[in-house]
Amino acid sequence: MASAPKIGFVSLGCPKALVDSERILTRLRAEGYDVVGSYEDANLVVVNTCGFIDDAVHESLDAIGEAIARNGKVIVTGCLGARPETITDRHPSVLKVTGAHAYEEVVSAVHAELPPLHDPFVDLVPPQGIRLTPRHYAYLKISEGCNHRCTFCIIPSMRGDLASRPIGEVMLEAERLVKAGVKELLVISQDTSAYGSDLRYATGFWGGKPVKARFTDLARSLGSLGAWVRLHYVYPYPHVDEVIPLMADGKVLPYLDVPFQHGSPRVLKLMKRPAHAENTLERIRRWREICPDITIRSTFIVGFPGETERDFEILLEWLAEARLDRVGCFKYSPVEGAAANALPDPVPDEVKQERLDRFMELAARISAEKLAAKVGRRMRVLVDAVDDGEALARSAADAPEIDGTVRIPKPGKLRPGDWAVVEITAASDYDLVAKLARGR
Ligand code: SF4
Repeated sequence: MASAPKIGFVSLGCPKALVDSERILTRLRAEGYDVVGSYEDANLVVVNTCGFIDDAVHESLDAIGEAIARNGKVIVTGCLGARPETITDRHPSVLKVTGAHAYEEVVSAVHAELPPLHDPFVDLVPPQGIRLTPRHYAYLKISEGCNHRCTFCIIPSMRGDLASRPIGEVMLEAERLVKAGVKELLVISQDTSAYGSDLRYATGFWGGKPVKARFTDLARSLGSLGAWVRLHYVYPYPHVDEVIPLMADGKVLPYLDVPFQHGSPRVLKLMKRPAHAENTLERIRRWREICPDITIRSTFIVGFPGETERDFEILLEWLAEARLDRVGCFKYSPVEGAAANALPDPVPDEVKQERLDRFMELAARISAEKLAAKVGRRMRVLVDAVDDGEALARSAADAPEIDGTVRIPKPGKLRPGDWAVVEITAASDYDLVAKLARGR
């Protein structure tokens, strides 16, 4: 029997790109391709790129260069594919460039270079597809694109306007994942709170029952599957208040990832952020009133063009009052094609750095205080890895990759994917240490 054609795959970028990679790989595996772990073993390499900021563009171009040098046959897809000349100018020998979520095009390009081996008797793909995350958690992409036009972002020009997946399709995928052993679903999109608005909240069917393509209905349905459900990229619109009671009732995780980006209304307006006119401090206060245990995560940009020292102080005052649990911060960096490049008054690099340091100092202090308050508490955690005799786990407050961890130095028989009940024994700025709780 001829051996299966072999594909190498490099997946760069955000969780949304990761989901695209999983879809492409699922399809290729279904057609009999082998996915191999080295350039040398592959007959062909697919590189899924990111083009969000300049650093990501460089990383993508370097990855393409490495694949060409070590394998020679390279197909490029992903966000950077929206600017094919950026790729072909530097790497003229790539076989094909396609844009983001162009699954069919990528697969056709693979077929053209490396035809599949037809074997109709072997079902190579498990029904939940191929996932690149560990077995116990999975990203669930509910929509593509975005209707906003934030001035620092080029995603809408690369990925188009919001296109939500039908609710029945999303729920079916979620159900399959949970049946296959996934214990945590991470809901992602560019704007999760806008889910279904492009479909006019069309009713779909799941399990024979009607369900609307609406953010709250989706959260409620996902919450009924028995897995942890974590909501990412939610904007502080009034209707978001409706999911907080689901968190208080334990239906979805009391965790909300809200990319606030700034606290100064003037800067938010310059950024053209969604919901920039909302009183975000008031929203946060309401959420905590309904669900005191809620963890709020966010990202911020400092040094946006036109940001004055006073704007930055407003941001610090905002953070000091909001006391967010998890915070990431970036220095503004111009992205080719973004409207913000035309804004006056760029902030010098050293000022950006100084503001980033001041911001992170405050964020770390708040985080340390909040984590110290957890010492002595019992909580349920999900184990991600067991290495060198200790387990790394996460609580409801920790999303994989971006938040902190709960380290369990004496993990007993715990294995990745296990639940455990632990008692917190120590805390640092961002992480916790725990021991297994008695009588779990
Ligand atoms: S909400 Fe703004 S930052 Fe997010 S994808 Fe849409 S335009 Fe970009």
